[in-house]
Amino acid sequence: MSQESLFELQRLDTETQRLRHRRVNLEQRVTLEAALIEQAAHQVQIDAVGAARVEVATRQRRHEDEAQIVATKVEADVARLYGGEVQGVKELEALQHEIASLRERQAGFEDQAIEAMEEAEELAARVTSLEASRVDVDNRIEILQMDITVTEAEIDGELEQTALARSAAATGTSVELIAEYESLRPGFGSATIVRFDGSNCSGCPSVMPAMEVDRMKHEASDSILNCQECGRIVLR
Ligand SMILES: [Zn+2]
Repeated sequence: MSQESLFELQRLDTETQRLRHRRVNLEQRVTLEAALIEQAAHQVQIDAVGAARVEVATRQRRHEDEAQIVATKVEADVARLYGGEVQGVKELEALQHEIASLRERQAGFEDQAIEAMEEAEELAARVTSLEASRVDVDNRIEILQMDITVTEAEIDGELEQTALARSAAATGTSVELIAEYESLRPGFGSATIVRFDGSNCSGCPSVMPAMEVDRMKHEASDSILNCQECGRIVLR
């Protein structure tokens, strides 16, 4: 049994942990989350402007229709004024007065229609600018997603290599020792197996009693020894 194989196995497990952690916590994923929130916010704005455009267009049409209706009345009144059916100064004055007031109303509706048209132009410009920003955020999202896919594939390749190397290291190690190591690893992590430096366990700061040191030195080389203080596997 090679002790170095066991250290190599421990190192490879730590590497696997590191790679998995990196895969889950990719920096690009955080950036992507933010970009997706930005994209959703853009969509809300685009939808709101779209709804406003419909409202403004409806309003513009209504005012144009109103102006048209009044204009038709004005035309009819003007025809009556010069048609000769209306006689009498008072009646003619009343008709003139009505025409003047109708023309005023017509101008009012026309002004409102123009205001709506101007609003529509502003909204159209706003849509153009929002859509340009949306294209920008869409592109960023696409690049990030590609970047994440590529990085994940790279990490997966490294994980595969690490798994292969671990299998190779495991074949050079005793099954019992691996089982013991695996049961202790959740508690000790990358320092589950430590070296005996000749007088102490290198995994903890406690000083080994002389009797324990003596026992360590005289045990068979393939026996599993644990530090009596911390419980780590100590290899000589
Ligand atoms: Zn120890």
